[in-house]
Amino acid sequence: MKTSETSPVYIPIVDTHAHVNLDCFEAELDDLIARSREGRFPEIRGRHFGTDPVARPFISGLICPAVDLATSKRAVALAERYDFLFAAAGVHPNHVGLLQQDEWEGICRLVDTESSKGRLVALGETGLDRHWDDAPFDLQREYFLKTLEQGRKTRLPVIIHSRDANDDLDALLHDFYADGAPDWNVGVIHSFSGSPTQAERWLDLGFYLGFGGFVTYTNRSFSDIWDVARFVPQNRILLETDCPFLTPHPLRGRVEHNEPLFAAFVARRLAELRGTSVQEIANTTLENAQKLFNLPPLPDKPSETT
Ligand SMILES: [Zn+2]
Repeated sequence: MKTSETSPVYIPIVDTHAHVNLDCFEAELDDLIARSREGRFPEIRGRHFGTDPVARPFISGLICPAVDLATSKRAVALAERYDFLFAAAGVHPNHVGLLQQDEWEGICRLVDTESSKGRLVALGETGLDRHWDDAPFDLQREYFLKTLEQGRKTRLPVIIHSRDANDDLDALLHDFYADGAPDWNVGVIHSFSGSPTQAERWLDLGFYLGFGGFVTYTNRSFSDIWDVARFVPQNRILLETDCPFLTPHPLRGRVEHNEPLFAAFVARRLAELRGTSVQEIANTTLENAQKLFNLPPLPDKPSETT
């Protein structure tokens, strides 16, 4: 008797960018966490994942970035409550114009008091955004540079957002790290959307590249991202959702919002592009996340279904 045909193949996934601390998740947070850990797909129940009817992806680890002081505190509170969840603290480029007096100092204090406890593992998200025009670009640069300084001081990895600002990002990073790649785990360019040349330049500085919904989209305008996903070294690739945003194909437009478990669809697309298995992508990105964020051992099985 072949047991392998019936026993589930567990696929532990680390979503390195999940905004589960935002208000839109608050009312359903307990169920969201439960179904992520159990590997329970909410809107596509009954459908098989990928080509393997017994594969069972589940969330084994999660990094929750912040957009301001309140969400930084909330990320830390969630990290204290859930073993598999880890916090980042910082200010998002689209929020820098909304900062209250002393808010940045509050974020710095939170980082100083919490980073040694192992639950706050990164800074951010920070970066540059010309897409939404929500905040003056000079102010975005100012807080981005402050965050990079904070990373240099604390040796915590920085989670970087770049939307329609990749040339600005490239210039700023090479200026800031003019002496070459830092000797600590410097951070991740999350939701990578740059060119192959930019990818190589950022990898040279020691950055990891995070892939999410964009890489799953079938429009040819995303082909640069597909190309980079094919060649990025195995030890520098991360999996993420950016939930509730950027729902991956084929769920885009079919669910209300993205959620951590949908990183499985990103893993499937990366496996297709790189000619490997979903399991291999999941294992590789899990190891990379553990290294970059200095995470403890994570669960290798889903939690029991409730
Ligand atoms: Zn984000």
